[in-house]
Amino acid sequence: MAYEEIRKLIEKTGKDLGLKESIIEEISEPKRVVDVYFPVQMDSKDIKIFHGIRVQHNNARGPFKGGIRYHHEVNMEEVKILAALMSLKTAVIDIPFGGGKGGVAVDVKDLSKNELKRLTQGFAKAIYDVIGEQKDVPAPDINTNPEIMKWFLEEYEKIIGKKEPGVITGKALKDGGIKVRDEATGLGGAAVVQEIAKILKKKPEQITVAIQGFGNVGSHLAHHLQHMGFKVIAIADIDGGFMHEDGLDYHKTYKAIKSGRKIIDQCFCQVHGKSNDCCVISAKDVLERKCDILIPAAIGEQITTKNAKNIKAKIIVELANHPIKDEAEQVLKKNNILIVPDILANAGGVLASYFEWRENVEGVKMSYDEAKEKLIDKMRLATRKVLALSKLKKISMREAAYQIAISRIALKLKK
Ligand code: NAD
Repeated sequence: MAYEEIRKLIEKTGKDLGLKESIIEEISEPKRVVDVYFPVQMDSKDIKIFHGIRVQHNNARGPFKGGIRYHHEVNMEEVKILAALMSLKTAVIDIPFGGGKGGVAVDVKDLSKNELKRLTQGFAKAIYDVIGEQKDVPAPDINTNPEIMKWFLEEYEKIIGKKEPGVITGKALKDGGIKVRDEATGLGGAAVVQEIAKILKKKPEQITVAIQGFGNVGSHLAHHLQHMGFKVIAIADIDGGFMHEDGLDYHKTYKAIKSGRKIIDQCFCQVHGKSNDCCVISAKDVLERKCDILIPAAIGEQITTKNAKNIKAKIIVELANHPIKDEAEQVLKKNNILIVPDILANAGGVLASYFEWRENVEGVKMSYDEAKEKLIDKMRLATRKVLALSKLKKISMREAAYQIAISRIALKLKK
């Protein structure tokens, strides 16, 4: 995907909504792009220069919000796309944030822990003046984690000379984070499934679900879906997984997938305690399983024109970012498969980040159970609104989500 495609989508949505040209233009371009080159002392004492990026797409609804990734392929085009999608995501679930994204071009495998810490301190020094709890609030993303958030926060607070934990989210509990964050994207996805599954007019225990991906998102998603009563019949990550028509037991599947598949492959049926028709399945095959709801929760562009025609699910819920290639989406539409778009389905994580920020900045505390309940309610409400607009205007849920997000941003720009 190129930024040009996002721009075109925003422009088309803006025109469909009858927005003024100047407003459409304002939403289609990032407000600010920050390119920094900063020095880091390596363990050898040599100084190396790293390239960091922060894109601030839109802040009409609140501070820019979005993760920081450490990856050798980090580049301006991709960060701009991700920042724009964050503006749409925060707007579609109606939280008072805008959208941003950042990253450093680095292969973390090449760095020692001390070098990683100095890289994080260097990046914080390089961008501290464009961020702030009311300006721009970063978070973890690919290859960044609560410990890195802590290093970043400590450096930022050292520079500004005061405490400001709300400048960054995704912190560990002891550093001002909140308990629900780790599971929030999967939990939010399960709440979306709960709402959208009503269309099938069946009880949850009659609804079959297949999941591709068993990392942070896929594993929490599977866990919550089981608790909600859905029948998860297939789960696979990059090394494969399992399927059983009667439904997989989450805990046993977790143990099997996470603890050396070779032995488990042979004895999973016994472990699982079901009949012998329990099989292993690959991450690719899981997409084509017969099921009611398919959830890609691994990486992008998994559904292509090659496999789209073989997909048998009635509904696809996009927990991964951009799991369906654009041309494949046309095939799915022709086959009347309902697609719940990523900007809605995987917004649970940023919603939890908002709870964390609100606790840090405004002192609004919620218990773990309250946060879970609020997260589920808000995700279900957003799903209902997107579905209702899509039915009313006879447009796809993706188009409806874009319309809701862009009209909310535009409303603030007019004021
Ligand atoms: P993760 O790294 O924890 O897990 C990724 C999963 O994808 C693993 O199960 C891995 O085995 C699988 N995978 C990797 N390469 C694969 C391949 N080639 N084929 C099939 N499976 C493959 O990542 P995550 O945090 O669970 O994120 C999953 C997706 O959700 C990503 O697209 C991410 O951008 C998106 N997402 C995550 C969050 C979040 O809060 N973690 C929020 C929004 C969106």
